[in-house]
Amino acid sequence: MLFDTHAHLEDERFDEDREQLIEELPERGVAYVVNVGSTLETSRMSVELAARYPFIYAAVGVHPHDVSQMSSRDLDDIEALAKSHKVVAIGEIGLDYYYDFSPRKLQKEWFARQINLAYSLGLPIIIHDRDAHADVLDILKAHKDRIVGGVMHCYSGSWEMAKDFMDLGFYIALGGPVTFKNAKRPVEVAQKISLDRLVIETDSPYFAPTPHRGERNNPAYVRLVAQKIAEVRGMVFEEIAQVTLQNAKKLFKI
Ligand SMILES: [Zn+2]
Ligand SMILES: [Zn+2]
Repeated sequence: MLFDTHAHLEDERFDEDREQLIEELPERGVAYVVNVGSTLETSRMSVELAARYPFIYAAVGVHPHDVSQMSSRDLDDIEALAKSHKVVAIGEIGLDYYYDFSPRKLQKEWFARQINLAYSLGLPIIIHDRDAHADVLDILKAHKDRIVGGVMHCYSGSWEMAKDFMDLGFYIALGGPVTFKNAKRPVEVAQKISLDRLVIETDSPYFAPTPHRGERNNPAYVRLVAQKIAEVRGMVFEEIAQVTLQNAKKLFKI
């Protein structure tokens, strides 16, 4: 059985068949999913999905894309949601310098504020880091006494930097990109990482793994991520599945 540590099943691309797709996940080998919020609204939807399905858990938070309109009142609302049943993390939060949809100054400010919120609630954090590795690391280091664990989701940085994040206590999540033909850095991380720091994810509906690249992703495809990691490490699939499931349960205290 597999643990998909990062999915967005509330996304409108699942509107047509969400219920059926989710209900089929256990028979397709998925034991747990963390549905991750990226706005106040999708955080609320994540909590609703977690309430409805026993194997879905929720994370609540505001993505760097969406912080430019964020107010202190929204942070209060996130805090209230975070106290709901089956909320296991604050996320996704972080920095995105690839799209730069929000000014970087605001991205950093709201990243820090949500780290502090997670600390006050005793929750781990789910980090989105796109082309912002150095600043993400700086902010995490500056808050290292206020972090109760977390995960670098869809990790795309170098192996060298992965070690810095792991030194801060973070897990590294690999997703669809590790299966892509041109993948170099995620494959290197998959080969070198100590198994006790590794978790897997899909980031559904994004980043569908090979041979579904470009299609809508879904949590059942997390199997292809585990298979690829097993292949590049010369291990059996079942062992990767089992270890990453146990790691994720420890990370999210399930
Ligand atoms: Zn993300
Ligand atoms: Zn995401």
